[in-house]
Amino acid sequence: MLPRSLRELMFRLQKLPGVGPKTAARLAYHILSMREEEAIGLAEAILTARRRIRECSICHAYTEDEVCPICRDPHRDPRQLMVVAWPKDVDAIEKSGVYRGRYHVLHGLLSPLEGKGPEQLRIRSLLERLKTDERIEEVILALDATTEGEVTANFIARLLRDAPLTVTRLGYGLPVGGSLEFTDELTLARALEGRRKVEFSAGGAKEAKEKPDGRPEEGETPRSG
Ligand SMILES: [Zn+2]
Repeated sequence: MLPRSLRELMFRLQKLPGVGPKTAARLAYHILSMREEEAIGLAEAILTARRRIRECSICHAYTEDEVCPICRDPHRDPRQLMVVAWPKDVDAIEKSGVYRGRYHVLHGLLSPLEGKGPEQLRIRSLLERLKTDERIEEVILALDATTEGEVTANFIARLLRDAPLTVTRLGYGLPVGGSLEFTDELTLARALEGRRKVEFSAGGAKEAKEKPDGRPEEGETPRSG
C-alpha cells in the first residue's frame, strides 16, 4: 500500500489536463526525488499564483492588479474589442503581435452538455462594457473553430445585432476544431485580416461576403423574430 500522502499527491496530479494515472505516478515520484527546495518552490509557485492572480475588473484577463496592463495601456486602440474564450487566448494573440486593440475574456464557451450557460460566462459584463464605453466600434469574435465556439459566437452576435457596432468574426485559416492557442502567428494574422462581418438573415447569424469595412449586401439585414 502506498503512503497516504503519496496517494494524495497522485490523486491531485491526476486532476490536471492530460494527466492519467501513469503520468501522475511518474510525476509524484519525480517530485519526491527533487531537492527539497525545488519541490517547495513548485508548491509555493502554485500557491502564489493562485492567491495573487485574479480577473481584470474590465476585461477579465488574468492579472495581479485591479486592472491589467493591456486595459491600462493608453496606446491600445480603444475602437476594437476582441472577444476570446480563455485567458490563454490573450497570450496567443499578444505573442502573434498582430492586434493592437483591447480584449474581453469570456472564461469559457457555451456548452449545454457541460452545463455552461450565458450566466457562467462574462457576457453580462461584456454587454455592460459595450453600453458604457462609447469608443468601441468593432467587436471581433475570436472563438475556437469548434461547435461550442460557433454557438457562442452566434449567441453574442445575436445579442449585439441592434447595437451601433460592427460585429466581425475571425476569418479563414483557423483550423476547424482547433483552438487559438495552437494557431501559429501567420495564421492568426491572416484570420484577423480576413475577418468577416456577421450579418443576420431569416436563417440567423451568418457571415457576410464582404470585409468588415465593405458595405453589407442589400437584403442581408432583416432580422428574424
Ligand atoms: Zn484588462
